[in-house]
Amino acid sequence: MTGASGTAGSVVEAAPADSGPSAGDWAAAESLLRNNISPEARVLLVCHVNPDGDALGSMLGFALGLQRLGVRRMQATFPGPPEVPVPLQGLPGLDLLVPATEAYPAPDLVICFDAASESRLGELVDRLDTAGASLVLDHHASNTHFGEVNLVDPYAAATSVVAEQLLTRLGVGLDAGIAECLYVALTTDTGSFRFEATTPAVHQLAARLLATGIRPGDISRRVFDTRPFGAVRLFGEVLGRARLEPVAAGGRGLVWTWATLDDLVRHDQRPYVLEALIDSVRCTAEADVSCVLKQAAPGEWAVSLRSKGAVDVSRVALALGGGGHRFAAGFTGRGTAEEVVDRIRGQLDAAVIPSAGS
Ligand code: 5GP
Ligand code: MN
Repeated sequence: MTGASGTAGSVVEAAPADSGPSAGDWAAAESLLRNNISPEARVLLVCHVNPDGDALGSMLGFALGLQRLGVRRMQATFPGPPEVPVPLQGLPGLDLLVPATEAYPAPDLVICFDAASESRLGELVDRLDTAGASLVLDHHASNTHFGEVNLVDPYAAATSVVAEQLLTRLGVGLDAGIAECLYVALTTDTGSFRFEATTPAVHQLAARLLATGIRPGDISRRVFDTRPFGAVRLFGEVLGRARLEPVAAGGRGLVWTWATLDDLVRHDQRPYVLEALIDSVRCTAEADVSCVLKQAAPGEWAVSLRSKGAVDVSRVALALGGGGHRFAAGFTGRGTAEEVVDRIRGQLDAAVIPSAGS
């Protein structure tokens, strides 16, 4: 991401939050890991609630690397129900996953992946206190640096970019297992190399990953291009009720829709299928901002926000208790769908990026 987010703040103010890890951060992370690379050390890897391809892919890819270094007592986990979305069930390293309820209560080291804040760790947040040491790997500009050592690079296209750099420093070369995990993570967060964060370095990393022999066609079909027929019909219904509000966001436009628990039941679908919905909604030419509300419980919605570049939706999400990136963010909304969208509308004007033109 280019760094024009702080138009109101001074350059001096913006620098610490925006810059990537320092040489000292990398050295500290490396030494934390070297201290825990032994068959006895218990290492717990944690990623954010409702894990996506980057969360699970960076965590499992890194776990496979640690295994190669001789770490034997290792668990990977995430908060909430231990349900891996079907598209991610082919990931290498899934045998390392344990339910949150079985995670080491006091590991020697806890490593967090793709989580911008402690709240994203749910019931596992206490491990930051009970663990001997904590390390955070992430790429959200809003990361609160909640670990003892933090490798947070807001310029990285995915957390897996940071994970690969750390593996390289530890002397772990890529194999097909690690590469598949990191490739899934990289393609998830770059929208299959379509988003702005797709730098030359991203393609160079992709080239190194592909050189291990992984099969991008198979992986993409499994992760992005397969869904049950019931989900196809459910999408039809949910897209059919989408609403377009051209005057929202100072005339940049808002398109939004919602999916209820009842929709899922009627079509016999699991909640993960709704994660792909935003990609169909955000195509709308007449709106810069798109939004999908996914009912999580009565009166509770997991909200996804996207922008094509005119609006900083992370500002909207942060104001409403969530977080994310400038052009992809989310939060938990309470009330009716209409009430939640009303709160979003109320934040949109202030989130229009001044330099983005009209
Ligand atoms: P998605 O819409 O794909 O669920 O999430 C888009 C981005 O917003 C991701 O970077 C994700 O980490 C962030 N995000 C989504 N929901 C929440 C939330 O409830 N809280 C926070 N802090 N970030 C969220
Ligand atoms: Mn990510």
